[in-house]
Amino acid sequence: ATPTAIMVGSGLGAKRGILFKNATAIETSARIDTVVMDKTGTLTKGEPEVTDVVVGPGVDEQRVLALAGALERESEHPLAQAVVRHVDTRSVPRLRATGFRNVTGIGALAEVDGHKVAIGNLRLMESEGISVEALAAKRDEIAAGGRTAVFVGVDGTAVAVIGMADAVRETSAAAVTALHEAGIRVVMLTGDNQATAERIAEELGIDTVIAEVLPEDKARHVKQLQGEGRVVAMVGDGVNDSPSLVQADVGIAVGAGTDVAIEAADVVLMRSDPLDVPVALTIGRGTLRKMR
Ligand code: ADP
Ligand code: MG
Repeated sequence: ATPTAIMVGSGLGAKRGILFKNATAIETSARIDTVVMDKTGTLTKGEPEVTDVVVGPGVDEQRVLALAGALERESEHPLAQAVVRHVDTRSVPRLRATGFRNVTGIGALAEVDGHKVAIGNLRLMESEGISVEALAAKRDEIAAGGRTAVFVGVDGTAVAVIGMADAVRETSAAAVTALHEAGIRVVMLTGDNQATAERIAEELGIDTVIAEVLPEDKARHVKQLQGEGRVVAMVGDGVNDSPSLVQADVGIAVGAGTDVAIEAADVVLMRSDPLDVPVALTIGRGTLRKMR
C-alpha cells in the first residue's frame, strides 16, 4: 500500500481505538482469511462468577470451601479469584495454604490444614491420580450449560465440583457474523473443556472449536492452520496467548488484556470490543484497495 493509504488506515483505526503498530500490520490484515479467537477474556468478559458448588456424598460444603479458598488465594488465575470471592461471601474459617504450585493450563496444588488439595480440570485430576467417579456426571452437566467446571480434590478423591459462568461480551456474536460476512473463517481456541467451549461457540455461531489446549500448544494450532494455507489473525488477551499472537500473521491483543499480550501483538484493540476485529480487517482491505 502507498504511504498515504497506510496513514489514512492508521488514522481510521486510531479513531476507533484500533492501534496498528506498523504498516505491515495493516497490509497483512487485508489478507486474513481465518480469525482464531481465545475464549476467556476475549469472547467472554473474563470475569467468572461461581454459579454451582456440588459436593460428593457425605462431604461438608463449608469445609471444602475453606480448603479451596485457601489454595485459590495463592493463585492469580481468574477462576481462582472467582472461587475466593465466593468463599469470602460465606462464613468459613480462614486457612493457610503451603507449598502452592500452579500447574499451567490445568489447575493448582497445595497443602492446606494437613491435606493435599488440588483444584482444576479433569486432566489435573488424572495426572494427580485423583478419582472423580462420584462427580463426573455433575461436571458434564455444568459444562453442557456452557459453564466452566473444576474439581476440588482432597487427599486423592474429588470431593466437589465448582461451576463458574463467564458472561460473553455483548458484541461477540455480532463480531462473528461480521467476520463470516467478510468470508472469514472463525475458530475458537481455549484451555477450557470441550463441552463448555462448544456450548459457547454454538451461541456465538462459531464453526470450529479447539478446546482443552495447553498454553504452550496454542501457537502450534495457529501454525497448523498456516500450514493448511490459511492466513491467520489471532485474537487474545492473556499471558498464555502471547506465543500464538507472535506466531499468527497478525496478532491482535485486547486492550483490557495483559501487558505481555499487548507487547506481543501487531494490533491493539483499546476498547476491548470484539466488533473491532472485523473493523480492523476491513480497514486493512480498504487500505490495499486504494493502492490499485
Ligand atoms: P483459557 O485458555 O480459557 O484462558 P487456562 O489455560 O487459563 O484457560 O486454564 C484452562 C483450565 O485450567 C481452566 O478451564 C481450569 O479448568 C483449569 N485451571 C487453571 N488454573 C486453575 C485454578 N487456579 N483454579 C481452577 N482451575 C484452574
Ligand atoms: Mg484468555
